[in-house]
Amino acid sequence: MAKELNFKKELIGNFGYPVWENPTEAMVEAAFAHHGMKFRYITTEVPAENLKAAFEGVKAMGYKGFNCTLPHKVAIIEYLDGLGESASIMEAVNCVVERDGRYIGENTDGKGFLESLLGITNPKGKKVIILGAGGAARAVSVELALAGAKSMIVVNRTEERGAHLVRLLDERTPVEVSFILWKGLYEVPWDADIVINCTNLGLYPNVDQRVPVSVQSLKKGMVVCDLIPNPPLTSFLKEAAAQGCTTLDGLGMLVNQGKIGIKYWSGVDVDTGVMRKKLEELFG
Ligand code: NDP
Repeated sequence: MAKELNFKKELIGNFGYPVWENPTEAMVEAAFAHHGMKFRYITTEVPAENLKAAFEGVKAMGYKGFNCTLPHKVAIIEYLDGLGESASIMEAVNCVVERDGRYIGENTDGKGFLESLLGITNPKGKKVIILGAGGAARAVSVELALAGAKSMIVVNRTEERGAHLVRLLDERTPVEVSFILWKGLYEVPWDADIVINCTNLGLYPNVDQRVPVSVQSLKKGMVVCDLIPNPPLTSFLKEAAAQGCTTLDGLGMLVNQGKIGIKYWSGVDVDTGVMRKKLEELFG
């Protein structure tokens, strides 16, 4: 049987730092293989001082786009031709897309989370608790604010970072937002609808680290989410489930941000089941 060998493959980059066995690469390549897409997703180590040169290389080689991770999420912005709405509010880019020869920065982290949350509840009109104020908290809170969340409380250990996120949400989105300095056990207000752990407490290998939230304040009817993808079932989610809360793990966010990126680069809607299965294999 003859096999088609003479075809062009489109290239997508992943500016990882450093290169390790990369779950995003494995997940995206699994989707390409499943759908017979003529694309390659390639992780390359890009030291901060070489970012500009690496981006010039990507343009010279005609890449359709790339993902970028820390420390490039902010630094890449000055080289791009434009930003999508939420990337511009967040001032952070994790996905660059070539559109008509122009390289545009998007942020798919928050969009990926929103898509998995919508499978359970719509954040429109809801009260949301954001635990943490780092890059992931910023991506998720901006996207939920743009999706119509009514109010938000940002809870963070370091005042400066928390206050910065609150100011950004207040000035650039319509959500009502306040800040609580995280000291000791945080009591979730009884009328909260959605609680999201955006810290790295509990991330492998520190799986026994506890998120300092009063378990009794997690009530039946609340949706409790963890952004940590590895392990998918964190101690925080186990505690919330035991309280009768509906839970959402971080794998959905990782899968959906990948799905959205592939749609941007190729126009193809890929099967998220294949991607999730690949991650479950990797994370055990
Ligand atoms: P950052 O380093 O930017 O932020 C970390 C946050 O965790 C900060 O708010 C920090 O508080 C808080 N934190 C850390 N240690 C403690 C502690 N001991 N007590 C209280 N708060 C603490 O990380 P990111 O925002 O980039 O990532 C956060 C998590 O989100 C990671 O676990 C990551 O794996 C996950 N993530 C998941 C994605 C997915 O697709 N599922 C995508 C992106 C991220 P402080 O400001 O006080 O230091």
